[in-house]
Amino acid sequence: SKVRIYTLAKELGVDNHKMLEILDGLGVAYKSVSSTIEEDTVELIKQIVAEEGASVTGGEVAETPAAAPDPAAVAPAAEQREKPAPVPVVEPAPSQMPIEGQPTEAEPVPTEAAPAAPAPAAPAKEIPHRAPVVTIMGHVDHGKTSLLDYIRHTRVAAKEAGGITQHVGAFEAKTSKGKIVFIDTPGHEAFTTIRARGANVADIAIIVIAADDSLMPQTREAIAHAQAAKVPMIVAINKVDLPQADPEKVKTDLTQLNLVPEEYGGDLIVVPVSAKTGEGVEDLLEYISLTAELEDLRADPKGNFGGVIIEGKVDKQAGVLATVMVQEGTLHVGDFLVVGENYGKIKAMTDSNGGRIKEAGPSTPVQILGFSEVPSSGEKVQSAKNEHAAREVIAQRVDVRRDEEDARERRKAQRSLEDILGPIGEVRTVNLILRADTQGSVEAIQGILARKESEEVKINVMLAGIGAPTEGDVLLASTAEATILCFSVTPSGAVTKMAESKGVDIKSYRIIYEMIDEVDRLIKGNIEPVF
Ligand code: GDP
Repeated sequence: SKVRIYTLAKELGVDNHKMLEILDGLGVAYKSVSSTIEEDTVELIKQIVAEEGASVTGGEVAETPAAAPDPAAVAPAAEQREKPAPVPVVEPAPSQMPIEGQPTEAEPVPTEAAPAAPAPAAPAKEIPHRAPVVTIMGHVDHGKTSLLDYIRHTRVAAKEAGGITQHVGAFEAKTSKGKIVFIDTPGHEAFTTIRARGANVADIAIIVIAADDSLMPQTREAIAHAQAAKVPMIVAINKVDLPQADPEKVKTDLTQLNLVPEEYGGDLIVVPVSAKTGEGVEDLLEYISLTAELEDLRADPKGNFGGVIIEGKVDKQAGVLATVMVQEGTLHVGDFLVVGENYGKIKAMTDSNGGRIKEAGPSTPVQILGFSEVPSSGEKVQSAKNEHAAREVIAQRVDVRRDEEDARERRKAQRSLEDILGPIGEVRTVNLILRADTQGSVEAIQGILARKESEEVKINVMLAGIGAPTEGDVLLASTAEATILCFSVTPSGAVTKMAESKGVDIKSYRIIYEMIDEVDRLIKGNIEPVF
């Protein structure tokens, strides 16, 4: 019978990358590690692994050096993993700690730090793996909060949480495959706000879709946002415990958005779950780890510090508190940090469970006390050697900002659609966000736009929805350089203002043919005459 690649990899104790290399070597086609392979191939692979294992592992025991160096140096090589792995004496890294109370030897040795094969690019391989940062998006009431709560309650050790889990914007979940960091402000607004400031915080997006409701407007928005950010998606079909749950319908509906679930031959991972009973949540976590492994996420704890503000707030007693996601390097109490045009010195730091810590490495959300102004989510955080250096960085930023403001003033004249479509003769993709008064208009305009596509001009409707454009649309448009087309809907003053400040064009039309005519004319003008 057929076997999934990752199942086989697990069974044979080799890491997924290694397994894919073997398949490549054999010339076997696959889409992802969750693709299935034929029985004959399975046998062949078993032989190969058995032979390689015999030659590589022969009598070797993983080393456990006394001093704790780089985790990469501590973890035994992939090939040795078929044997019951000796428990490393040295803690590899917090992310690789097994769940408390679980037998360690039953767990696979942390795969993160172990190179699967001779490194083609040696320096890259020396940078250790980091835990994935996951965001949960989807339509209102589809269960985003419930899913996060379920994961938090089952995956964050109660003793660490100290009974009270305070909301800091992110939390760390422990799984048998290592740490997974969840951004716990569900919804794509948070995601896009962060991205609109030029930062990327999420490595993987979970799109939650209720099995009794299927795809809804905000589901489509969430998908558009993840796609625009080029962040891999995993679909969690939630509420499968309900009698009226219809996961098959969700899958079919997804197919209509060109998102084809694996079991229909595509490469979209779809996991049925229930945030109420917990069914499938374990699988979901497993798929997250799997996706993370394939993404090969790495960060250097010894490198320059870089991070992003997840959220900032004022606490009546403590003062300004900011949650920072460490992306590169390591933060220490006492470090000077620069955020935008402000700086602060870290007075105290707590992890997402409220425990005091002195330092924090990559993929760690930490709450920091020491800023005087409340930073906004999505702002990038940098460190500075000392107060003087911090002030210098800020002075430079102020200069840059003033220059940009001047330039913006000069450019203030609105761009025409022609500017957006670009020079003649080039294949261009025109990103559009479409907002109209009724579903009928949306579909009609989409249909017409689709027919306007040519070899020279690709029209990419990133998002099409009913109602006036939102601030979220503007953020999406600004990151994807899209134009917002409105038909019979009027953007609010706040949205118009935001669009102006971000340089996003909003074009409004009342008559469908005016809109089409303009698009038509411009597309024609964009095609080089053929003689
Ligand atoms: P959000 O708006 O996406 O964050 O959705 P919530 O997590 O607030 O959930 C909306 C409603 O659905 C709440 O009443 C939840 O109790 C319920 N709910 C969430 N997940 C499940 C589930 O897996 N099964 C059932 N039966 N109800 C659920």
